[in-house]
Amino acid sequence: MNKSIIIIGASHAGTSLAFALRKEGWQANIILIEKDPNLPYHRPPLSKKFLTSDMDIDQHLLMARESYDKHEIDLRLGLEVTGVDKSHKAITLSNGIVLSYDKLVLATGATPFIPPIKGIKGIQDVFYLRTAKDAMDIRSACRAIDAPSILIIGGGYIGLECAASLKQLDVSVTILERENRLLSRVTAPEMSDFFLKLHTEKGVEINLKKNVTSIERAHNKVAVLCDDGAQYDADLIIVGVGVSPNVALAEQADLKTHNGICVDEKTQTSDPDIYAIGDCTEHYNKHYDTTIRLESVQNAVDQAKVAAKAICKKETGYDAVPWFWSDQYYVKLQMVGLSSGY
Ligand code: FAD
Repeated sequence: MNKSIIIIGASHAGTSLAFALRKEGWQANIILIEKDPNLPYHRPPLSKKFLTSDMDIDQHLLMARESYDKHEIDLRLGLEVTGVDKSHKAITLSNGIVLSYDKLVLATGATPFIPPIKGIKGIQDVFYLRTAKDAMDIRSACRAIDAPSILIIGGGYIGLECAASLKQLDVSVTILERENRLLSRVTAPEMSDFFLKLHTEKGVEINLKKNVTSIERAHNKVAVLCDDGAQYDADLIIVGVGVSPNVALAEQADLKTHNGICVDEKTQTSDPDIYAIGDCTEHYNKHYDTTIRLESVQNAVDQAKVAAKAICKKETGYDAVPWFWSDQYYVKLQMVGLSSGY
């Protein structure tokens, strides 16, 4: 019988899994399906060098095109999986094709969260950053205006990295952060102070405790209004206030979900033939004695290695300590572990 594994999502998690499966000895079909039309690429550069350079996304590929052929990975780009039928072990693609699987892996990642701000959905110059296309759209919008003013909603990693990158250009950058410090969800106050000072020295205007309530067009600018009455006008807005895990397919298949698709230490979901890895998952982490959902390349790649072993019936279990990095100007932040209750 021609066994098949289907992986939905070909980014850090899904692509790593496809290659790890071959390394672990999986000899049957591997079908890797991705809705983005580009060959799978590294996401971290999108808010860093890529944002202001002339680079093509092909300069940041996870794997060269030939590698997929060499490892007999059937990569199908520009196709969205629209349905999972776990009782028939089949998925449906956006082009209507139905494919059967023996094992299915959800590596569907996450999508930028759209905050409940009045007017946010109807305005043209509001950008999010997750894909190569998003980064190229921000680049083009910056280049279309002479010395544009950019307003970033959110003082987390994405907002700060965008600010640091865009400051290399002739632009003014303002950040509005709702909390009383930058990076409040992920670092200690000392680190928040460090980055506040760094960005201020570089000419970024940072406004803390600014809760944005509405966005509207005002002449040829976009006006951002806060609940304390403050108003900021800018040419373009970047929203970086977190992401939501892509769980729609899992929910449709009636898999257990919470803050992500629930997986065990072998990355198996509540269905024994369906696994899930990367940003879309929530797992019990023994180092913190709680369930967590991580958004990092480390977690995506490490969970992929565990899934490959588990699917190939080898001894495994996920117990990695989380680590993360961020590049802003000349500073590289590297952190191990999670900052909680500091
Ligand atoms: P994703 O990268 O989100 O990939 C999921 C893929 O699934 C997507 O390509 C999506 O198109 C596809 N997909 C979803 N649903 C379907 C469907 N139904 N059919 C077909 N395809 C589907 N992490 C770090 O550790 N360090 C950093 O410095 C860092 N910087 C970052 C900068 C930016 C701008 C961004 C956006 C992220 C950054 N991250 C960083 C986070 C890191 O990129 C993510 O943790 C990582 O990409 C997670 O990989 P993933 O494969 O789980 O999910």
